[in-house]
Amino acid sequence: MSERETRVLADIPGPQLPSEASGQLRTVLRDSLARAAPKNISPGLHAALMSALDDSRRIRCIGSKFVPAVANKVDGAVWIGDALNVRHPLTGGGMTIGLWDVVLLTDLLREHPDLNMRQVTAKWQWQRRPRALVVNVLSVALHALFAAETKELALLREACFDYLARGSYFTMQPSGFLSGLLPNPLLLLFHFFSVAFLAVYLRISNTSVSYPGDALPIRFYSAFYTLFVAARVILPVVWKELQP
Ligand SMILES: Cc1cc2nc3c(=O)[nH]c(=O)nc-3n(C[C@H](O)[C@H](O)[C@H](O)COP(=O)(O)OP(=O)(O)OC[C@H]3O[C@@H](n4cnc5c(N)ncnc54)[C@H](O)[C@@H]3O)c2cc1C
Repeated sequence: MSERETRVLADIPGPQLPSEASGQLRTVLRDSLARAAPKNISPGLHAALMSALDDSRRIRCIGSKFVPAVANKVDGAVWIGDALNVRHPLTGGGMTIGLWDVVLLTDLLREHPDLNMRQVTAKWQWQRRPRALVVNVLSVALHALFAAETKELALLREACFDYLARGSYFTMQPSGFLSGLLPNPLLLLFHFFSVAFLAVYLRISNTSVSYPGDALPIRFYSAFYTLFVAARVILPVVWKELQP
């Protein structure tokens, strides 16, 4: 947020948010922040996070959900921003998509003053789709990897960091997806499955830190199972985004 200020997004999975009134929420946050910034490894960050938690009188919580865009069926009305389409806040893509929606819609209205609103929104839905798909799918896929509830997802997360740390095109194009500047769904799938194949390599070569050990046949099996897990993470979201 500034040179001396940062913002922390804490993801608390599950259907029920721990109660703030009973102090349960603060305990959960305290434990997870302590795990993310251990006192002995990063004492300054640990102290800053704990004092921010102690100083905040009220913790603001927002539920996160994935809402794919649907075609507009109401004459004369246009839904934009979160009213139309919501993704996970992890990648901070909501404003990007909302503002691009405005840009595309105003361009269409300016270029085609003769079209009625139904035609304009039909055209607009197609124009916004590739960018929205890339940003939305990435937010859901990265959330699954970062939350890493299984060994396979932890392996994919490790491969993802390894991939992004390679620099040049391995970093530039994924940054382009996140910022909404590279609205190319096929390229997104290419990078996602490149990460998945890197995870396969890390597992088979037994160089993974997050999923080490086991004999070669078991490593082979788990490596290809990880590929299946990767497909299961991304393809259902892509499918939902492709619905008219
Ligand atoms: C934790 C979190 C972090 C995020 N971080 C980022 C980020 O870093 N970058 C980014 O680009 N995006 C981020 N987003 C997403 C971004 O905040 C949203 O996509 C964006 O705010 C959507 O704007 P909007 O105008 O569509 O909706 P909103 O910002 O939700 O605005 C809707 C407004 O309508 C008002 N309203 C609701 N109902 C009524 C009613 N009946 N009558 C009158 N007013 C009403 C609400 O009070 C609200 O002020 C984040 C989201 C979350 C939850």
